[in-house]
Amino acid sequence: MTQLERARAGEVTSAMERIAEREQVDPEYVREQVAEGQAVIPANRHHDALDPMIIGREFSTKVNANIGASETTSDISEELEKLHTAVHYGADTVMDLSTGGGDLDAIRQANVDHSPVPVGTVPIYEARKQVDAVEDLTAELLLDVIEKQAEQGVDYMTIHAGVLMEHLPLTDGRKTGIVSRGGSLLAQWIEENAMQNPLYTHFEEICEIFAEHDVTFSLGDGLRPGCIADAGDEAQYAELETLGDLTRTAWDHDVQVMVEGPGHVPMDQIPEQIERQREVCDGAPFYVLGPLVTDVAPGYDHITSSIGAAIAGQSGAAMLCYVTPKEHLGLPDKEDVRDGLAAYRIAAHAADVANDRPGASDWDDALSEARYAFDWNEQFDLALDPERAKEYHDQTLPGDNYKDARFCSMCGAEFCSMRIDQDARDADGEMDDIADDTDLDESPAADVNRPPVGSHDTSNVPPVEDVVDDATEDLLADD
Ligand code: SF4
Repeated sequence: MTQLERARAGEVTSAMERIAEREQVDPEYVREQVAEGQAVIPANRHHDALDPMIIGREFSTKVNANIGASETTSDISEELEKLHTAVHYGADTVMDLSTGGGDLDAIRQANVDHSPVPVGTVPIYEARKQVDAVEDLTAELLLDVIEKQAEQGVDYMTIHAGVLMEHLPLTDGRKTGIVSRGGSLLAQWIEENAMQNPLYTHFEEICEIFAEHDVTFSLGDGLRPGCIADAGDEAQYAELETLGDLTRTAWDHDVQVMVEGPGHVPMDQIPEQIERQREVCDGAPFYVLGPLVTDVAPGYDHITSSIGAAIAGQSGAAMLCYVTPKEHLGLPDKEDVRDGLAAYRIAAHAADVANDRPGASDWDDALSEARYAFDWNEQFDLALDPERAKEYHDQTLPGDNYKDARFCSMCGAEFCSMRIDQDARDADGEMDDIADDTDLDESPAADVNRPPVGSHDTSNVPPVEDVVDDATEDLLADD
């Protein structure tokens, strides 16, 4: 039985209990949200290392990081290092988007075996690798790949079943056509074969596979806008209507669903896009890429997109797919993953603060108190990226004697406004009125709204050396 089926039957599962603990809510509330399709627990029953989490509008905003090998990189140990980096910097889920770089099955299995967070994939990528030309893809091959990945323990899969033959003419005249990898592959397949999208025509068979292994749908937005000029056009909204129908079909099979969203959207259009998805898809969680709010900043798209992500999160998006500084330019490395995750953890937390999630701002308050007290070490410890905060501070004032200094190099000792303010209050006897009593141990905040980020329970994750030395070698030997 899937988490959805059990929730509908009134059962509070152990995953729901754990999520209630992490989110600081009643387990029964978790069950209700899942039963109503308003939240999903991506938890393939074969994923033993998983620390269960939830994605839904009524829970803390989550962040996904894409990892994976490409033609030019990488090997399993490099991939596991990327996984570790992503989880360490606070990814709530990861997507293995590998398209090359060795044995895709072995890389995927190693990621699932070593990930305490849900792992997502886009199975059409692997299917495409198995044929010479896009038009040679078959429904049977797609179903075989989906089933194999489900058996490996993949928790959610992007299925671009909403790209229909009749939608394709609507993309004519766009500035950037079809920018989704899955969307562009399927559009080519449809045109070459003059047949309907096989993921659409075989959707119920996919539902049956997902129900057996409890895989969650991430309904792909293959026709998402690739620039702000294309945002909210007929093609995007026609696909969204289809995704709404597919959501209800999946629910009929007791399969959990979230829906993917754009892309590139100007700031003023984001709230209405989120609202429209909610109406069309009956409240199924919305998982958005960015969106980028302007197209003019290649090299800085973790910033252009995290602005959109913060607005999307505030407007009700449940999970934000990170974008790194390398977006549109190249494959991200470890440092890009770190920068992308920092930008998105900020967006997610800012959305939770704006939405008044219980205790979300306690983290801000604790850090502000440490800052005003000139407790530099405490400020570093509470920082979203402690290593980065300390590194920047210590570039100019590295000595231990500066760890309680009443200034930093930004304004200098003479012009430090906080020191000046404190001295004035000291003189007036007002320092006792300064509030500094935030206790994070007592905070009702969800796990993701407390430091440190990336604090998933990893007790079921085997040591990395083991997989590289043993399991991976076994997997590679099997091939
Ligand atoms: S010197 Fe300026 S930036 Fe540094 S602690 Fe004082 S007020 Fe803040």
